[in-house]
Amino acid sequence: MKDVVLGRLSVAQVYEGDAVIPLSHALPSVTAQDLAQLKSWYWDPHLAETPNEAGMRISVHSFVVRVDGRNILIDTCCGNDKQRSLPPVSMQNWPYLENLGRTGLKPEDIDVVMCTHLHFDHVGWNTRLKNGTWVPTFPNARYLFGKRDLEFFSKQRHEAVHREAFDDSVAPILDAGLADLVDTDSLIHREIGNGIWLQDVSGHSPGNLCVVAECDGSRAIFSGDCFHHPVQIIRPDAAFFADEDPAKASVTRQRLLDQYANQDAIFFPAHFTGATAGRVERVDGSKLRFRFLDE
Ligand SMILES: [Zn+2]
Repeated sequence: MKDVVLGRLSVAQVYEGDAVIPLSHALPSVTAQDLAQLKSWYWDPHLAETPNEAGMRISVHSFVVRVDGRNILIDTCCGNDKQRSLPPVSMQNWPYLENLGRTGLKPEDIDVVMCTHLHFDHVGWNTRLKNGTWVPTFPNARYLFGKRDLEFFSKQRHEAVHREAFDDSVAPILDAGLADLVDTDSLIHREIGNGIWLQDVSGHSPGNLCVVAECDGSRAIFSGDCFHHPVQIIRPDAAFFADEDPAKASVTRQRLLDQYANQDAIFFPAHFTGATAGRVERVDGSKLRFRFLDE
């Protein structure tokens, strides 16, 4: 993704890595007709004719928002050296901090870390391994965690990978006294248009939050995992296999699209590949499409 400038606010992507997962596993209700419609505006070499043959390529990345001299990091990917019971994401070794360096920032420069939710691929770089212990990667930052997700993930025991991530990437931040618990009444930054605030997008996780930044009337929507793949713009009702509450997640997706389609609003989804950011447009009166910023 190229850097995006919205008035006094700029957004850069910090890439960690990407992966291809079977589409029929991730989004079981997507049909061949949905894929045909998607291909009229989205190209990916892994998208086959039928869902059973198609791969779903996802990117894992963070966004850095710079505004008024403050640096806000949104979502922190999987992290390095983390033991996970999900083999493809265990003990990874990504040049993530080097990629952060390409934006001109060092870990010490991050003022705020905001995790849209507390799944393992959104909290990983909160900590890094130093002399055998997990220490905060961004020592000068306040880390913002959603209250409802913190409550849920501090107790949940059914999904090992999220429990492991809580233990090595969230708990050490709480112990270091660097965490602030936030909800939709929390403003992250006050001095830009109407500010940067949080919107309730629960469903994918119990306390999932979306970050909305407004600058001179334009909005940037950091939608986290409300969308994993552009096909969900066509099929917002299609449940993603990792949605904690699939019915609620699909209502949330539909609501976000209704709210921001054909508006001066740029979406920054947590897992779209390539140009990543774009606008949602309503075409032919009812159909939706995503228009990437580089088109
Ligand atoms: Zn995710």
